Amino acid sequence: MAVTTDRDQKSGFVRPLSIAESVHERIYERIMSLEIPPGARIPIDGLARELNVSQTPVREALTRLEREGLVRKAHLIGYSASPQLTHKEFDNLYKFRLMLEPESARQACLNLTPETLARIEAAAADMEQGEQPVDRNSRYSRFARADAHFHDEILQVADNEFVRQALNDQHIHLHIFRLMFHSRVTQEALEEHERLLAAFRAGDADAAYSAMHDHIERSRDRLAAAFE
Ligand SMILES: [Zn+2]
Repeated sequence: MAVTTDRDQKSGFVRPLSIAESVHERIYERIMSLEIPPGARIPIDGLARELNVSQTPVREALTRLEREGLVRKAHLIGYSASPQLTHKEFDNLYKFRLMLEPESARQACLNLTPETLARIEAAAADMEQGEQPVDRNSRYSRFARADAHFHDEILQVADNEFVRQALNDQHIHLHIFRLMFHSRVTQEALEEHERLLAAFRAGDADAAYSAMHDHIERSRDRLAAAFE
């Protein structure tokens, strides 16, 4: 198996992935890119053979993906990829985000220090430069995770663990990015993040609120096309 690396979130240090992490990464990419379509069975033995590893890391990866809501386990049937969000779930998820994230951005702006601003800026920069994997699937699935990380950095600075946990429990970014492949999604989102950063740098809490509100509404409108 090719050796891949990942950036250690805390230290920024690039380290080789363990077999377990690497197996998780590859299954994650296939689910996010719909190469394993929603509802499809995921046989452990077949996947282990295909990835040329034992069944143990595949089981571990599937357990973790189950926690992330991307796979389901059914008695006697085994694992399958989770179904896509329904239109109603999608609408409700965005209403939920709009209730919590703009206000969190305002709060984060009020709490900002040079250190925490630097962390948010680093998370944003990671999305733009980061690693540049060759294939489109892995670029997209990494973008989903980097976006989740960026939004979570803001929630950390907002400093309300109830709100942060409520949002993180939904694994929102994994589900919405799985709805469709869209290069516009990535470019436009980066521009909207940039507006949010500008508000943070200016210490303008109201502008941070509206930049986040706008970003989430636009994200909703881009992805709503998946239901047409
Ligand atoms: Zn975003």
